[in-house]
Parts: sequence; C-alpha cells; structure tokens
Amino acid sequence: MPPATPARWAWVRAVLLDVDDTLIDTRAAMHAAGAAGAAAAWPQAEPERIGLAGKRFRDDPEGHFAAYTRGEMAFAAMREARIGEVARWLGVPDWEGSAGVFLAAYDRVFMDCLRAFPDARACVESLRATGIAVGLLTNSGADYTVAKLARTGLAGLTEVVCTRDTLGIGKPDARAFHEACRQLDSAPEVTGYVGDEWVPDARGAADAGLTPAWLVRDPGSADAARGRAGEHGIPVIAGLDEVPGLCAGS
Ligand SMILES: [Mg+2]
Repeated sequence: MPPATPARWAWVRAVLLDVDDTLIDTRAAMHAAGAAGAAAAWPQAEPERIGLAGKRFRDDPEGHFAAYTRGEMAFAAMREARIGEVARWLGVPDWEGSAGVFLAAYDRVFMDCLRAFPDARACVESLRATGIAVGLLTNSGADYTVAKLARTGLAGLTEVVCTRDTLGIGKPDARAFHEACRQLDSAPEVTGYVGDEWVPDARGAADAGLTPAWLVRDPGSADAARGRAGEHGIPVIAGLDEVPGLCAGS
C-alpha cells in the first residue's frame, strides 16, 4: 500500500496534467478575448465594463461551466449561456442575435493570445525521459483542446488526451480520473495528477485515489493554498518544473 501524500509521489509511475491554466495560460487569453468579443458585439456598452467582460466571462458567476462538466449542458450551449450572462451584465437586453459576432471575435483573439507556460514542455519531456507516462485530462472539449495544443506547440507531447466530451463526465467526478488512468494504462494508486484548481483538480484527484499536487502559480495565493492543502497532505507547487522532482522523491 503506498504511503500518504506527498511521500506517495515517489510511487508515481504515470502523471496526468490539467491543461487550462496548468500547461496553457488560458486565463489571460480569455480575459483579452472576452473584451474583444464584447467590443465587437455590443459597442454601445459602457467601455469600462467592456474591458472587464473577459474576466466576467471566465468567472462564469452562474456556473454554466460547472453544469457542462457535470454533463448537464453541451459545450456550445454552455458558451452561449455565458455570453448571455455577460450581455445582461453589460445591460444589453436582446443579445441572442449578436452571440455569433461575440464568438467570432472571441475565438480569433483567444487563439492569437494563447501561450503555453514556459515550463510546460520541459516538464512533460523530463517526465517521459525518466519513463513516466504522461497524459492530459481536461474539462474542455476535444476539438477545442486539439486546437489549443496545436496553437501553443504542445500537440503530440503526451500519450493520451482526455476531454470532458469524450469521457462523458468531467472532473472532479472520480470516473473522469479513473477513465484517464485506464487510457494511460496506469492504476490510480500510482498515478500523479497536477492541476491549478482546488476542487476539480487537487481534491478531485485525491478523492479518486490519485496522488495530487496543486499548482498555484500566483505567489500571493501560495500561503493560503498551503494552509488549505496541508490539511489534506497535498503538496502545493509554484511551477511545473517541480513535478519531476516530486516523482524523484526530492
Ligand atoms: Mg485548469
């Protein structure tokens, strides 16, 4: 029986990685893209709010993305619901006809702004060089994920890419983690997991029997994160460059 985390990392023989805001700086791209989408679709809205529309879109205060990860909404319907929420927040009453304008501008700017974190490729290559299988597990859709990986130069780096739509269920449901482990041909007990969110990633992976690390890139959030994760024996890391060291027991 493997020991408790974080010592369990030394037992890890395969690693699953989250994609958005773990390998790829999706947050920055969403903020820029949402502002561009709002400016294109609803130029009559208050300029200051248009500038914040991308943050609002990403924050998703009505929880449509969570409903999508639970299998309650299709990807396109989830995006349209989030666009509607932003439109109403901007004071636009009849937004349905302009959702396509928002999305066209959004998608163009999103892809233009999308970047891999500088430590992403090196982390995956370092793990694989030591014989550790690496897979991706994301709550995003398959087509969108393929496009994001291609855009950021990360396509083809890992053994498997598991997405919410192809799995039928998303994180933090244990079935998503277990199916990703199965596709990676690795038992959950010897599979590490790294992601940037507490509930869908770190807690979800721990509850599914994997060995998690919580990626917290913002130094200002690190102390609070350590306090929260420490109660569960989950290590907090500041960058993906720390993952190979975890596996090596250092
Ligand atoms: Mg993420």
